[in-house]
Amino acid sequence: MKIIVCVKRVVDYNIKVRPKADNSGVDIASVKMSMNPFDEIAVEAAVRLKEAGQASEVVAVSMGVAQCQDTLRSALAMGADRALLVETDAELQPLAVAKLAKSIAEREQADLVLLGKQAIDDDCNQTGQMLAALLGCGQASFACDLQVDEDGLTVSREIDGGVQSVRLKLPAVVTTDLRLNEPRYVKLPNIMKAKKKPLERLSPEELNVDVSPRLTLLRASEPPRRQAGIKVADAAELVAKLRNEAKVI
Ligand code: AMP
Repeated sequence: MKIIVCVKRVVDYNIKVRPKADNSGVDIASVKMSMNPFDEIAVEAAVRLKEAGQASEVVAVSMGVAQCQDTLRSALAMGADRALLVETDAELQPLAVAKLAKSIAEREQADLVLLGKQAIDDDCNQTGQMLAALLGCGQASFACDLQVDEDGLTVSREIDGGVQSVRLKLPAVVTTDLRLNEPRYVKLPNIMKAKKKPLERLSPEELNVDVSPRLTLLRASEPPRRQAGIKVADAAELVAKLRNEAKVI
């Protein structure tokens, strides 16, 4: 089973982002960037399948600027065998990423494509679903457990109020949720080894994919500041305030 894992370079989850002064977008100049946390979980899942002898190869794929190579090197250090960067300075929206991933999945004849359930920068939660539709294959989003057998996959999915189990034939697309696993801590020797692993660079044109954006960002702004709370003397005052001021009862 050949696995492709999509890894996105995003603003590190510890960074508090701010809108640009002209509100034209989020200011990401000189902030720390890291692998999207859900994609780390996807890489970990793929590498565990390889270690268990259930996957033959794990290929990490990223789309974006040249610096995405750092993200790919992190995936290689975690245990991916090789990496592919679709390099472009264009703004990539989920549909464009899904089209690029489709082209790569077909080129690589992948059996399984693993993605994060969402990228923590744009919170779209769209790419995996779009990719499965474009490939015309089965999908299991929000995976919290993944078992492979001869006929395909059994995936447990986190849904409102519980866990749903689904069976999938290969090829398939799976997106990872937080509880699927805990990504490994990468050790220095593996970081060194990752520098020697193959990293191929392609362009969207070589894959024949039009990546032009379909959505226009109108404005990025801070959420309204939360108002300070107040203390009430008793339940009667609370009820009065809820009724007369907040007008919620
Ligand atoms: P989104 O639909 O943008 O929330 O992203 C969902 C998942 O798609 C991410 O967790 C990644 O696995 C994958 N993905 C999105 N954008 C990219 C990208 N530029 N490069 C690689 N993978 C991506």
